[in-house]
Amino acid sequence: MTSPVWRPFFQHAVEPDPPVIVRAEGAYLHTSDGRALLDAISSWWVTTHGHRHPRIMAAIREATESLDQMIFATVTHEPAERLARELVAIAPAGLAHVFYSDSGSTAVEVALKMALGAFANRGEKRTTIVALEGAYHGDTIGTMSVGERGVFNAAYEPLLFDVARLPFPALGREQATLDRLEQIARAGGVAALIVEPLVLGAGGMRMYPPSVLTELGRIAREAGALVIADEVMTGWGRTGSLFACEQAGLSPDILCTSKGLTGGAVPLAATLATAEIFEAHLSTDRSKTFFHSSSYTANPIACAAAVANLEVWRDEPVRARIAALGAAQSKRIARFEGDPRFANPRVCGTIAAVDLVAPDTGYLAEIGLTLRSFFLDRGLLVRPLGEALYLMPPYCVTETELDRLYDAFEEAAG
Ligand code: PMP
Repeated sequence: MTSPVWRPFFQHAVEPDPPVIVRAEGAYLHTSDGRALLDAISSWWVTTHGHRHPRIMAAIREATESLDQMIFATVTHEPAERLARELVAIAPAGLAHVFYSDSGSTAVEVALKMALGAFANRGEKRTTIVALEGAYHGDTIGTMSVGERGVFNAAYEPLLFDVARLPFPALGREQATLDRLEQIARAGGVAALIVEPLVLGAGGMRMYPPSVLTELGRIAREAGALVIADEVMTGWGRTGSLFACEQAGLSPDILCTSKGLTGGAVPLAATLATAEIFEAHLSTDRSKTFFHSSSYTANPIACAAAVANLEVWRDEPVRARIAALGAAQSKRIARFEGDPRFANPRVCGTIAAVDLVAPDTGYLAEIGLTLRSFFLDRGLLVRPLGEALYLMPPYCVTETELDRLYDAFEEAAG
């Protein structure tokens, strides 16, 4: 069987004949055959305000009038400088430097290099990275090594790093996670704890409370380790606050952001770090230089889009929309409480999820594809994650649209 040239290598995991999108607007993707698909997962969690927010698109158009990609070494430019200043101003306290890249995976890869490099440069032998069971941090070899997604990682074993794994802090079992971190910390050599704050995204939208995050941060810090917050998915309001760390009173040493950073219009990522980590890499000794420079680092058009995203956050009632969406999700997900077809109905900020109680719902199981087609036939873009059915719509979604989605969940479960 031949495949079209554009087909992703994860061919078997996508629909055999996907619709062609000719226009994107707000919560909808419009197909070449005239259908409108409600994008209930914000196109892999990026389009926070909906597709093509007018202000962000205008900023992109304006930037292209005078700038295109340019080397971000030897020269600099206003959108990158302005964005960095503004990011540091709104990020958790202590983050004082911004490193630009192009994807969430690279933002995390950079964070790991920064953490390990900071210790190596100080002559301190700390090489262990602690991560949560079921975590997802990206698809590069480095980020896969700290993530733990069986079907994603299996072919590439043994992967990299000395990784110590914490059990997921499931409800009622939080103490076991904290105890394990204490134990790992006592053994010494921990460079960093990396976490997806409050919600493990690709790991099935598993949620844990801010108090656990606070404790994880405290234990790691007391052991002299750095805390890396992977806010690639949780940032930009997804969990109810601008960054999820805020809810735990956690000021990470390194924070990774992407996805909603530009409101989803164009790719951009940033790794924010403390002055201490930055300074650990400042040396005339070349072996201590932080050698990571991607060609497209600080793309001016993407930076201009991100600056516009920050303006949207400042000037529009984004926080009120997020609070309303969170309340609307909580109200609706409650209908699955006690329903034997579903398990663990849960909400964190704007994200809602429920687990399907059906046989063979593991990652990439047949049922996932069947369900995707089921939703697509009803004009809904929903992609189950293993056994989790979840909704992460853009903040512009309406109550009526949510009703359509929840009714479809119910119908899908039969
Ligand atoms: N970290 C987390 C928590 C993510 O959810 C993702 C993407 N789903 C990534 C990293 C990787 O981001 P990207 O796909 O942009 O490389």
